[in-house]
Amino acid sequence: MNDSECIFCKIAAGEIPATKILDENQVIAFMDIGPIIKGHVLVIPRDHYPDIISVPPDVLSALIVSARRVAAAQVKALNADGVNIIQNNGRSAGQLVPHFHIHVIPRFNDDGYHFNWNPGKYSSPEEMEKTAASIRSAL
Ligand code: AMP
Ligand code: ZN
Repeated sequence: MNDSECIFCKIAAGEIPATKILDENQVIAFMDIGPIIKGHVLVIPRDHYPDIISVPPDVLSALIVSARRVAAAQVKALNADGVNIIQNNGRSAGQLVPHFHIHVIPRFNDDGYHFNWNPGKYSSPEEMEKTAASIRSAL
């Protein structure tokens, strides 16, 4: 299941170059060409799924286990102090490549990078409860 227009499908098929660090049955991992921090890795399914909702649970399990392996390797080999696991779905969430991928980003105490994470607020406890009830009803 591949999309001939998809850059990550092409990487998975070996049609365009990538610096791979894992090449398994269901999962591939390679260096992000535009690292947030040097050592930034992308973990992707070999098959084309656009986002987390479309990835079958068994493939998703393999992906997160591989992401965990990569994170442990970054800590061991690069002496990372921490690791960010980030996964974007949809343009509104910052997803540029519509082939599911997990960002595994090594972090260092002195790397100087800051996410633009500004906590917001509900106008009332009722607003939060109403939003929660809506999500709950769709699970
Ligand atoms: P996202 O915004 O979550 O879709 O992230 C897409 C990521 O893919 C970005 O971090 C890019 O730097 C990375 N990327 C795009 N093209 C390539 C490529 N050919 N090889 C490696 N990484 C890539
Ligand atoms: Zn693809």
